[in-house]
Amino acid sequence: MPFTANRDYKEAPRLVASASGMYYRDQNGREILDGTAGLWCVPLGHSHPTVVKAVQDAVATLDYAPAFQMAHPDAFELAAQLIEYTGNKFGQVFYTNSGSEAVDTAMKMVLAYHRSRGEAQRTRFISRERAYHGVGFGGMSLGGLPANRKQFGTLLAGVDYLPHTHNLEKNAFTRGLPEYGTHLADELERLIALHDISTIAAVIVEPLAGSAGVILPSKGYLKRLRELCDKHGILLIFDEVITGFGRMGTPFASDYFGVTPDFMTTAKGLTNGVVPMGAVFSNQKIYDTLMDGPAGIELFHGYTYSGHPLACAAGLASLKVFKEEKVLEHAQSMTAYWEDALHSLKGLPHVIDLRNVGLIGAIELESMPGKVGARAMAAYKKAFAEGVLVRTTGDIIAMSPPLILEKKHIDQLFGKLTDILKHLD
Ligand code: PMP
Repeated sequence: MPFTANRDYKEAPRLVASASGMYYRDQNGREILDGTAGLWCVPLGHSHPTVVKAVQDAVATLDYAPAFQMAHPDAFELAAQLIEYTGNKFGQVFYTNSGSEAVDTAMKMVLAYHRSRGEAQRTRFISRERAYHGVGFGGMSLGGLPANRKQFGTLLAGVDYLPHTHNLEKNAFTRGLPEYGTHLADELERLIALHDISTIAAVIVEPLAGSAGVILPSKGYLKRLRELCDKHGILLIFDEVITGFGRMGTPFASDYFGVTPDFMTTAKGLTNGVVPMGAVFSNQKIYDTLMDGPAGIELFHGYTYSGHPLACAAGLASLKVFKEEKVLEHAQSMTAYWEDALHSLKGLPHVIDLRNVGLIGAIELESMPGKVGARAMAAYKKAFAEGVLVRTTGDIIAMSPPLILEKKHIDQLFGKLTDILKHLD
C-alpha cells in the first residue's frame, strides 16, 4: 500500500466505502468527518453532483481520445478556462495524470526551454530541504524529505537545496504567516555563487510545504525569491499541487502571495479528486521560445492519458462549481473561525506549535524520545476510530478540509482533537 506501514495497517485495517459532502462512511455506514479533503484533493466535498454528472455524461459520450497529434474539444476548453482562472497570468497548460508527473513535466520543459535558447548547460535545479515534489525520479530528486529519499540511492545529479523555513523558536504559535524567515531566500545567492549562474536552470518551491507538515513561508519570503530569480534570470516554479484550487481562499497560492512564478504545477483539486489529472501552467515566453526553436515537435513529451476526456469533464465541472457556488468566498468566510478553533488547542499536552493559513491547519506535537511520529500516529488512529480523519507527518497533524465546511464541522474536528490530545501519552 502507498506510503503505508503495511504490517501495522493489517492489524487494524481502516476502510472507507462511500462518501458525500464532508463525510466518508465505512462499510457499516459509520460517518467519518473528512478533515483532509481526501489527500488535499476534494475541495468541493465528496461526490459533488455537478462533477459526478459531468463525468457520467463524458464516459457515455467519449470514453477516450488519443492525445498525440490530435485532441478533443473539452481539452482545449478546459485549458482556456484554466488560464482564465489564473487571471491570464499564464499562457499555456500541459496535462498530466498526477502531481508527480506535473513536476517531472515542468522539469523537462525547463530543460527544453534553456536548450532552445542556446543555454543547454543550464541544467541545475535548486529546491529546498523538506520539500515534497512527488515520487517520479525527477520530483523525488528535488524532494528534501530524508525518509522519501534514503531507500533509492544517489538520485538525479545537479540538484541543490535552499534551507526550509520551519523555525519553532522564532515562529511557534503564529496565527497566519510568520514574520521570521525572509532572509532564508537569500541563500539562493550563496548557491548561485557556488555553482555559477550559467549552470542554474530553475528554482522550485511549494509556496506552502504541505506534505512536510504544513511549513509556512514568512510574509516576504516568496517575493524575495522572485526578486532574486528575476535578478539572475532564473526560472521560478511553484509546485501548487496542494495549494492550487482554493486551498488558501484564492484560486492559487500565487494569488494569495501576489507572486507569479514562470511555471505552476497543479493536480488534486483540479478535478476535485474524481479523476486523476495534473496540469503544468507555463508563461507564454516558455511556449513561444519552444515554438520558435528548431522545426519539429516543440516538446517531445506526453502521456497516453494526457487530457483524458473524463478528467477534462471533471475539471470543467469543478471550475463551474467553484464559480457558481462561490466556494472561495465561502472558504474565506470560514478562515477566521478555523484559525480561532485551531489556536484554542494551545496549552494542551505535548502541543508545541499550531500553524494555519487559509483552510489549512497543523498541530505539531513534541516527539516521544526515540519514537518520532508515534504520538501523532496514535492521535490519528484514535481520531479515525472516533469518526474524524486527519493526516500525520512525523509528529505533525495536518488538516485541510473540503472548502465547503461549516462551523459545525470545525467544532466537530477540533472538539474531537481536543479530547484526544488531552488524554494522549
Ligand atoms: N507536489 C506536491 C507539492 C504535493 O503535495 C504532491 C502530493 N501530495 C505531489 C507533488 C505529488 O502528487 P501526486 O501524489 O498526485 O503524484
